[in-house]
Amino acid sequence: MELHLQGKVAVVTGGARGIGESIASHLAAEGCQVIIADTQVDRAMKAVENIGADKCRFVEMDVTDLASIDKAFKEINEIHGQVDILVNNAGISKRVQLINMSFEDLDQVFKVNTYGTFFVTKAVLPQMLERQSGKIINIAAMAGKEPLATYSHYCASKAAVLAFTKAIALEHAGFGLNINSVCPGAVDTRLWSTDNLRTKDRSQTISFRHDVEASFSFGRAQKIEDVANMVCYLASDLTKDITGQSFNITS
Ligand code: NDP
Repeated sequence: MELHLQGKVAVVTGGARGIGESIASHLAAEGCQVIIADTQVDRAMKAVENIGADKCRFVEMDVTDLASIDKAFKEINEIHGQVDILVNNAGISKRVQLINMSFEDLDQVFKVNTYGTFFVTKAVLPQMLERQSGKIINIAAMAGKEPLATYSHYCASKAAVLAFTKAIALEHAGFGLNINSVCPGAVDTRLWSTDNLRTKDRSQTISFRHDVEASFSFGRAQKIEDVANMVCYLASDLTKDITGQSFNITS
């Protein structure tokens, strides 16, 4: 299947590792010029090196900070002229029961996952509207559709991303924009294995992992490339009649 993504300019937030790095790598393999927009300079540079500096560059961006987003897009537009594809992937999580959740826990998760998605989308929107063309793919989560205990802030932040995706897709359907979301189930990344499973009791960690994996039909977590392949498909014109939808990457 030919995706015809050659020469398209794609920005992937949180692309320095995990799912974002895989998305960046797959988009680059399809011929896109990819910009990894992340806070982690060293790791992002390593990702650029792995993907290839001729196809990929790093721009420092904190998705929670409007000035940082503005500066990053100025740089991207100066170098590449435009952005064709935006993948809002940056996200954080922490496993914590509400009773132990601080305001900072709640605030951080919403700032990155929800506000970050709003902010970066708003920053790229004017140029996409002017050209009447653009693809926006938001990485939400199955947890936004089927909430889990001990992640109430994360689930709510991703449910907000799903609602946001639908609302702005409706708002911009007449302007040639395709805006969709992707919902991974569980993918073995640092977010999943370190932050979510962090606990002093190792037996609890193992049992939690086992319970989650056992909840999938195939009895295993999803892979980073499962998400990346769906993103490439949604970034292509093969899906030009699809907007406002959310695609589950789970079993
Ligand atoms: P990782 O933690 O592996 O990667 C996330 C990347 O985003 C990191 O490089 C991280 O940097 C970066 N990031 C965090 N905060 C910001 C910020 N303010 N500005 C820019 N970049 C930032 O996570 P995953 O690859 O697992 O997750 C990617 C997306 O997929 C997230 O939105 C997540 O919610 C979603 N998802 C993941 C699932 C999973 O099981 N892994 C399941 C469902 C959805 P740093 O290292 O500094 O935090």
